[in-house]
This record gives sequence, C-alpha cells and structure tokens, in this order.
Amino acid sequence: MIVMKFGGTSVGNADAFAQVAQIVKAAVAREAVTDKPGVVVVTSAMSGVTNMLIEAAERAARGDESFHQAQQDSLLLKHQVVAGRLVEDGSERAALTRIFEQRLAEFDRLCSSIAVLGELTARGLDVVSGLGERMAAPLLATVLRANGLRTEAIDATELIVTDNAFGNAAPITDLTEERCRERLLPLLQSGVVPVVTGFIGATVDGVPTTLGRGGSDYSAAIIGAALHADEIQIWTDVNGVMTADPRIVPNARSLKQLSYEEVAELAYYGAKVLHPKTVTPAIEKKIPVRVLNTFEPSHPGTLIVEKAQAEARGTVKAITAIRNMNLITIAGRGMMGVPGIAARTFGAVARVGANVLMISQSSSEQSICFVVPESSAGEVIAALRSEFQRELERHYIDDIHGMAHINIVAVVGSGMRGTPGLAARVFTAVAQAGINVIAIAQGSSEANISLVVIDADVTPALRAIHDIFELHIPTEVRTHKA
Ligand code: ASP
Ligand code: MG
Repeated sequence: MIVMKFGGTSVGNADAFAQVAQIVKAAVAREAVTDKPGVVVVTSAMSGVTNMLIEAAERAARGDESFHQAQQDSLLLKHQVVAGRLVEDGSERAALTRIFEQRLAEFDRLCSSIAVLGELTARGLDVVSGLGERMAAPLLATVLRANGLRTEAIDATELIVTDNAFGNAAPITDLTEERCRERLLPLLQSGVVPVVTGFIGATVDGVPTTLGRGGSDYSAAIIGAALHADEIQIWTDVNGVMTADPRIVPNARSLKQLSYEEVAELAYYGAKVLHPKTVTPAIEKKIPVRVLNTFEPSHPGTLIVEKAQAEARGTVKAITAIRNMNLITIAGRGMMGVPGIAARTFGAVARVGANVLMISQSSSEQSICFVVPESSAGEVIAALRSEFQRELERHYIDDIHGMAHINIVAVVGSGMRGTPGLAARVFTAVAQAGINVIAIAQGSSEANISLVVIDADVTPALRAIHDIFELHIPTEVRTHKA
C-alpha cells in the first residue's frame, strides 16, 4: 500500500491532471498484485491557488473586497476547465460545479467578514487558505473516476487531528492514526482510492487548521505513517532532490538516495524539496519516501531512507541556501565569564517567537551571534535591548545590532560525521572564490556545516562548494572511501 502526494504543479492544469490519472492508474494496477494492495492519493491545491486565497484574505483585512470578488470567477473557471476537458459525464461535472460553488460561497462569506472585522486572525486565514485543497481533491477524485478508478474525495479535517497552532499546526498522532485507519482502511479493502486534501487538518473540536505552507507533503507522510504504508511518494515537477538548485548551479544533478536526516537538513535550510517536517512521521515507522517527477514518471527520482548510500566523492551530499536572514550580534568585553547571558539572550528571542537558524559564539566569549529571519530581526533586537538594558548601561555589553542581507549556505551530508578535513575543504573552496565568511556553525549532528555570507556571495559560494566536492559526479560507495 502506498500514499501518493501530488503537488500544486502536478495538478496545475488539465494536462497535468491527465498525467496524474495515468500515474495513479498504473500504481493501482501494480499495487493490486502485492500482499498489501491499495493507493491513497493526497493532493495540493492547483498551483497558484493557495497564494491567491491568502492574498484575498489579506486584502480583505485591509478593506479591499474587490479582489476576492474578482477572483471567484477565475477560480471557478480554473477548476471547471479541467473537468470540462477530462470528465465526460454531465452529472459528474454538475456535481463538481456544485462543490466548487459551495467552496466559493464560503470564500466570499469569509472574506466579507474579514473585511467587516478589518482583521485577519491565523484561525480565519487557515479556513480561507485550505479552500484550494478542498476544491482540488473532489476534482481529482472525479478525474480519476473518469479514468475508470473507484475513488472517494475526503476532507483531511476528518483524518488529521491537530493542535490549535493555526498556520503551523502539529498532528496529534494517536487520534490521527485512529481516524485514518477507521476511515481509510475499509475504502482500501474494497478497492476504492481515497483522494485526500493535503495541507489541512482540524482540532479535536473540528476547527480547521493548516500544517504550514507546502504542508501537503507532511499530510501524505502523516497518513502514510498512520496506515503503515509501504512507501510515501511525493510527486513534484523535478527529478527528485538535487545536489543544489539547478538554477544556481547548472551542473547540479538529482540524487539517488538521501537519508531522512539529510533531507530534513536540506529542507530546513531552504531547499524547496519537501516540507521540513515531512520525514518526521516516516522515520518512526521507517517508511521509505520517494520524490518523483509527474512530468517524467520513468525517472527514478530520489529515495529517502534511514541510511542512504554515499553518492558523491567525499561525503557531502547536497548544498542549499536560505535567504533573507539577519545576523544578530551581542558583543562586549564584560560578557566574559558572566553566566546566563546566552540563556537570557535566547529566552528573549523565544519570547518574541523568532526562529533561530544558527548560533555561534566565539571562544573568547566576547560576542554571541545568531541568525534569525529578517522579518523578525527588529523585534528580536528590541527584546534584547530591553532584556540587557542594565548591562548596556554598565557597558558589560557594548553593542546589540543586526546585519541584514544575510544568507546561510548549508553543506549537508550524514557521512560528514567524523570525517576530518571536510570543513577545511569547504573553507578552501570559498576562500579561493574570494568569499568572506561572516560566521560558521556545525550542527551537533555533524550532518551540516553552515556558513553565513552576504547576498552577493551566495551563488559563488554554492558553485565553489559544489565544485570542490565534485557533486556533479556520482560515485559508488564501494569504489570510494571518504
Ligand atoms: N497548497 C498548500 C501551499 O501552497 C500546500 C501545498 O501545496 O503543499 O502551501
Ligand atoms: Mg507544494
């Protein structure tokens, strides 16, 4: 039994839907002859839809109602065109139109009340932003039926029970597992393909939530883990996970295998491969995750497993960069040996809810620096200045400041662990390229070395590191020792 998730571009237009139908049909046939047959489909919203829904809600909160009104027709059309091309049965098409109209009426009501209130809560936004999946799933279920499969569209609010962290909700595992099994297993046993909305869930009380942007991958993994699936497939528009972003590093290549740890590091540091939490549910049940290309289905893609084979010369697997960061520094000679500065620093950062992506403290203890998203830098600095007001007055701390236009370049590979000399090679590469490294950190997992560089240095840094580790050349693990 497998779970197949299709991303926004995989359901971006009628041609893509037709392609997905072929892929699912083939998978259902393959699965039918296994010990544990069955296919669960998870879908994202059609590409562009979620962004548009969010924009409409934000504009409504500013009093602009014309946008959401104008979008309703184009949304309806976008979905109807697919049905018009791929669903022949008139009553099926009519049933779909009724669903679309219901969703759009809901969209209209929601945006109107947001406009009246003049305020958009995270809770309200989750209801609006999840509407795209709630149109895509019935549409895909109907298209698959038109291709001879038995299907049922299912709203994941019935399956995925979450906490109430709106916009970034976390699943409550036991309840979710119970509901997934109760609802989905009977369908699978009778040969029906459930087509589930990605991205969304609901609290125990039934209040809709979302799992964060790009969360459909996570939905698929949650459902796959709940059902003990044999494999979780993430169908996207590229040939799996690559050694680097090919738009930046032209000779980047797709990776055959990655470990859960490696892919999590890559996703965390900005590689747009998977929602960063996707592998969490898979790890526990050791379910392989495969990233595949809807538009080149014969390509093997990338297999993500517990222990991946090494693949490149050396032990580095891939590199990525996360942009729009700010490097915050607290400096002062009086900090030396004063206990609790670090704890107070990160306490203050946590109070404003900022996400710290990297920390480094020099051994002289005269400064602490760490990286947060640019969007939270102002708040973080203000919080630190108030936390350390007395230390600033007494000059124990001389300065608290931020530096904008900061990026983290992350060099990732589980095999880096315990391999001496890797950091030196990374720094040789960037030094030869004339790049100034502002700060460095190595995660304690040793699966990652991170460098902080300015905007202009991101591309040259990625290319130089990709080159020095010859990431464009695949190497069998047996023929090469790191
Ligand atoms: N539609 C949602 C988003 O755009 C979820 C997803 O695509 O995975 O963020
Ligand atoms: Mg997506």
